[in-house]
Amino acid sequence: MLQADAHRSFADSVYAMTAPTFSTTAPSAHSHNAWPSRQWAQVSAHDFAAARTSGLAEATIAVLPVAAVEQHGPHLPLGVDAALLQGVIDAALPKIPVELPALFLPPQNVGLSTEHLSYPGTLTLSPATVIALWTELGACVARAGIGKLLLLNGHGGQVSVMDIVARELRMHHGLMVYSASWFSLPLPGEVSEQFSAEEHRFGIHAGRSRPR
Ligand SMILES: [Zn+2]
Repeated sequence: MLQADAHRSFADSVYAMTAPTFSTTAPSAHSHNAWPSRQWAQVSAHDFAAARTSGLAEATIAVLPVAAVEQHGPHLPLGVDAALLQGVIDAALPKIPVELPALFLPPQNVGLSTEHLSYPGTLTLSPATVIALWTELGACVARAGIGKLLLLNGHGGQVSVMDIVARELRMHHGLMVYSASWFSLPLPGEVSEQFSAEEHRFGIHAGRSRPR
């Protein structure tokens, strides 16, 4: 359960998980072999069975996107966190080298948003349910013969849950788990300079909820 370093990019986190020390399969052994899609749900059970035999599964990193559906001020829809996380994924996908086997699980867009329950429309699961949900999905990843999982988060209220889930999966299923939140990753200079110090401190992602 390694916490992604704040100075690492998302791609760096993925690379770190493919370091030789984390894999018992030499990259050349499976380089001829690849998933037919980056999307878990687009792959067949037959392809999963073949990947297990060839060693591709063991070398693969599964990515579980986790977001939230909750209030974001009077001016934005509830799905901001889910939309932003999907945007990060869409931008990252073309940058992942073809030889790097990464599979994206279906995004879990309802998470832990109990702090927003007083705002109508917010959807939340209980902490116990969130832990069970992500842990059970991780167990399915392990059952498919995949040894590495990245929890990729888009909601500040559930950062600590990732650590609990990572520990559970490590202990009970032998998974190597990284966790990262997109908002903890560094912004490129040309993006960063578009926001004031106040915006950086209080959250770029939802803009102002009050008039000045
Ligand atoms: Zn948010």
